Amino acid sequence: MKVEIDSNSGFCFGVVTAIRKAEEELELGGELYCLGDIVHNGKEVDRLEKCGLKTIGHEEFCSLKNSKVLLRAHGEPPATYQKAKENGITIIDATCPVVLNLQKNIKKAYEEGNTKDTQIVIYGKIGHAEVNGLVGQTDGSAVVIESADDLHKIDFSKNIKLFSQTTKSIEKFNDIVEKIKERVADGSKFEYNDTICRQVANRIPKIVNFASQHDLVFFVSGKKSSNGKVLFDECRKVNNNIYLISDIDELDFSLLKGVASVGICGATSTPKWLMEDVKSLIEEHILKKDNLE
Ligand code: SF4
Repeated sequence: MKVEIDSNSGFCFGVVTAIRKAEEELELGGELYCLGDIVHNGKEVDRLEKCGLKTIGHEEFCSLKNSKVLLRAHGEPPATYQKAKENGITIIDATCPVVLNLQKNIKKAYEEGNTKDTQIVIYGKIGHAEVNGLVGQTDGSAVVIESADDLHKIDFSKNIKLFSQTTKSIEKFNDIVEKIKERVADGSKFEYNDTICRQVANRIPKIVNFASQHDLVFFVSGKKSSNGKVLFDECRKVNNNIYLISDIDELDFSLLKGVASVGICGATSTPKWLMEDVKSLIEEHILKKDNLE
């Protein structure tokens, strides 16, 4: 049986940089907090916590004083930076440059537009950390739509400036653009900005090709990962025999029966070492089984 890891799966540069910054700070010693999970992967969070990183929520962040806090790749709204300033918190800013650029563009669009006539609309997941950071650029006024079902939230008599969370599907974004075009009122302007990160989008054809070449696929990803969901759904379109697992203990060896090739792939938040652990465990199981036969 062939067991193969997708060479294109694993951390994107935004996550690699955030983890490197955390490791560098931890090596210097002293306390380091991270606001939210550094990556949507519980196993990698556990690894870094063992090295001393302390994950905190916004409530705990607000009560901290004179500490060092790392901001992860998803970014934060301006209120977080303001709070840090007030409480003497040193920020280690690991916001991904792609997200930073999107934040700047949304802020610019918000400031340029007469807010009474122009709505900033963000296609993204309500409550997702990146989306909260984006909404914060508009003083909380942006309309967030999760799907075409949310279009009723938009006032089509106003000008619309549409942006996207970086990890959404391009196909679904384009579909929303077409639906807005159909409804926008005469005399109103509609401007859309495809702000989807190509670290995710460019992986789709490669990961789909990988998934189509194996009899069975294990997709390794944290359940909270947005890009994990996008990539998993794309793979499932070409291979129904695919299973999402977040850890090795979710491996179901009975699925290996009658299979000639197993593929292992994952999200931009999936560590390579975890995919390698999955591969080793499958290979050990095959070896044990062969020895018994
Ligand atoms: S997916 Fe793109 S935007 Fe998100 S952290 Fe990675 S590189 Fe940055």
